[in-house]
Amino acid sequence: MTDHTKLKMVEMNYDKDRPKADNPLLVEDISLRDGHQSLFATRGRTEDMIPIAERMDEIGFWAAEVWGGATFDTMHRFLGEDPWQRLRTLKRYMKKTPFSMLLRGQNLVGYRNYADDLAKAFVKKTAENGMEIFRTFDALNDYRNFETVVPVIKECGCHFQGCMCYTLTEPRLGGDVYNLDYYLKKAKDLEAMGADSICIKDMAGLLSPYDAYELVKALKETVKPLIHLHSHFTSGMSPMVHLKAIEAGVDIIDTCVTPYAYRTSHAALEPFVMSLLGTSRDTGFDIKALAEINEILERDVMPKYKHLLDDTKVSMIDINVLLHQTPGGMLSNLVNQLREMDAIDKIDEVYRQLPRVRRELGNVPLVTPTSQIVGTQTVNNVLFDTPDERYKMVTAQVRDLCYGLYGKTSTPIDPEVQKKALKGYERGEEPISCRPAEVLKPELEDAKAAIGDLAVDDEDLILYAMFPVTGKKYLMQKYGKEKMPDSLKPITLEDVAKQKAMIEKAKKGELVEKSKLENAPEKSEYARTFNVFVEGEYFEVGVDEVGGAPVISYAAPAPAPVQPAPAAAPAPAPKAAPKAAPKVAAPKAAPAASATGTPLTAPMPGMIIKYEKKVGDAVKKGDTVVVIEAMKMENALPSPVDGVVAAINFSSGDSAARGAVLAVIE
Ligand code: MN
Repeated sequence: MTDHTKLKMVEMNYDKDRPKADNPLLVEDISLRDGHQSLFATRGRTEDMIPIAERMDEIGFWAAEVWGGATFDTMHRFLGEDPWQRLRTLKRYMKKTPFSMLLRGQNLVGYRNYADDLAKAFVKKTAENGMEIFRTFDALNDYRNFETVVPVIKECGCHFQGCMCYTLTEPRLGGDVYNLDYYLKKAKDLEAMGADSICIKDMAGLLSPYDAYELVKALKETVKPLIHLHSHFTSGMSPMVHLKAIEAGVDIIDTCVTPYAYRTSHAALEPFVMSLLGTSRDTGFDIKALAEINEILERDVMPKYKHLLDDTKVSMIDINVLLHQTPGGMLSNLVNQLREMDAIDKIDEVYRQLPRVRRELGNVPLVTPTSQIVGTQTVNNVLFDTPDERYKMVTAQVRDLCYGLYGKTSTPIDPEVQKKALKGYERGEEPISCRPAEVLKPELEDAKAAIGDLAVDDEDLILYAMFPVTGKKYLMQKYGKEKMPDSLKPITLEDVAKQKAMIEKAKKGELVEKSKLENAPEKSEYARTFNVFVEGEYFEVGVDEVGGAPVISYAAPAPAPVQPAPAAAPAPAPKAAPKAAPKVAAPKAAPAASATGTPLTAPMPGMIIKYEKKVGDAVKKGDTVVVIEAMKMENALPSPVDGVVAAINFSSGDSAARGAVLAVIE
């Protein structure tokens, strides 16, 4: 920038004399999808988007990302909200700004490849509900997984944005796998598929500023579609990355308004508006209007979400990303998973093994769902492998990946791992090389038959088809056949004020009468902490086992574990939690046989997907009895012995704590 420009900026009257830029930078706001997904575990509620929606519509964004990614899953599962309704509601307030969504290619908004009939129906209904731009990616950058959705996107008259998931095997762009040629070739593939724009999807914040410059410049010289940059802040490089990309001629960048920015989210918009003011790439945005949006959010919305911020660290930047190249969401998943299993001390071992597992699984980019697939498998390997056997507990998704069900990996999968994973695999032990969805049977008719009248329209049916367990639960709640649990209800600003008052009281020591504390027994080292939510109020409760140190054994899940399966109401996790194995028990400790049979216990906390056996069925040691979902990955749990299923203690959709007795084999 010349001195002349700088002077001009100082003298310029911001409101009146601002010249129109020659090549204004286009901006997509992603606060209402990736912003709250990154910072607040996707818990943003529609009612909290409405207060700013009309003002956002006036800013002049190229697009607003409001849907897709994890929103669809989280809304029906944790917020008691209909995802389709959000689209329709927001469109009423944001009539001018095109809506964009993150579509996981053939994975749609779920975690596996869905059949073509479901994929087509999903895109069609999404467009009908107000979606205009489909940012489409595939976790393996295997664009055969776009072949079904792209023609539907085009038929609906929508914008097809093709993504290249940006990943590395080296600290910088280069090496044998992910080098400049790789990305230029991918961009040409996308152009040939009819991409209206091409997005560099840097989900983990791995892109560095000079690589961004080189990459964007080369892309602008090689392909015609608009080049769009999506780069997470996680590693701290992103504002520099965006500025270098702007200098290299990037057409569109993704940003968040300040309260939704930084940490594992994205660069904030406002500093770019000021940085580019008066230059040839001036956004033209009104910084005062943005300030008003910030004020509304800080006053009326953010207090309800602040508690979801990961405040375990003071640092805003996660240098682990620079070291381990794992996306922010994946890191927090790994940490949570290990913590739930009382194995947080294994985190360094997980970091150490992660690159190896990734290499063995074909150097896949780490993005949903491959980040979970590689992450969970690494956790399983660290926790369950023995010195003479690796990949002892292979998740269903790793087996699918080895079969080719996600597509072609960037490098071949380790043949030994592949062979082991595919042993006894239901689709066959020989991997496929065709487009994955070609081996998938149509799904919609079966889903329709299974859900029946509970799905009132196609939107309900699609929701159920993608999320059979949680989707059905949600539809029961939506149509009043099951009560909406209080835990799904929103908290209000009044709730926040009450909590604040309670914390103040607690700080002053007024919350608990002293006499009660004086009589209290001493807290032991085995005390476990539970978060308890009562009607929007939150308590941290320490639970201590009475009667000395816990016994290191599952052998006597006293009283006898045989109990009738819980009624339709889901068993709340805390109920099972106190039964969880004591801290000192190794998760793989073989349950000893007892008079009541051999218990099959949950090696990890999770949600029951389904039982493959029923009471009275004969089983052989190693037969799958139950499938449990942990970190969105399915784990088939085998019978520990030959025998007959004597008891089944949970139902599909129930939560089970680690160590919970899922079934008993006699
Ligand atoms: Mn993202």
